[in-house]
Amino acid sequence: MYKNEEDKIAYAKKYYQEHREESLKKTREWKRNNRERNRFLSRRSYRRARNLFIEMYGGKCICCGESIVEFLSLHHVKGQIGKKKQSARAAYSEASKKYSPEKFEILCHNCNQAIGYSGYCPHERRQRNV
Ligand SMILES: [Zn+2]
Ligand SMILES: [Zn+2]
Repeated sequence: MYKNEEDKIAYAKKYYQEHREESLKKTREWKRNNRERNRFLSRRSYRRARNLFIEMYGGKCICCGESIVEFLSLHHVKGQIGKKKQSARAAYSEASKKYSPEKFEILCHNCNQAIGYSGYCPHERRQRNV
């Protein structure tokens, strides 16, 4: 038994630190030994999340109707102003976990770029005859 609470806490801390180091080291080693595999796995999971996202959100650009998967990308409906910029990977995985059309939509790279750059897409103007 421990003499007092402090000893117990100190021991738990020490145990945690020792084992944390150990498991970090193992993870590092695994990564070093499996670099190729790791890259493959992460690429695959990225592609999966992306494909799932495109499937869930209608499979085409909401602006121009582009449906070639390679041309499509995720668009944040309300933008990302004031927020920490989300990586594409994180965005795809969040969007594909839960269908949230109020947060995400599909735009092709052209429309996405145009909206990001000028705040509107030229397609929209053409449709409304502006
Ligand atoms: Zn488009
Ligand atoms: Zn467009």
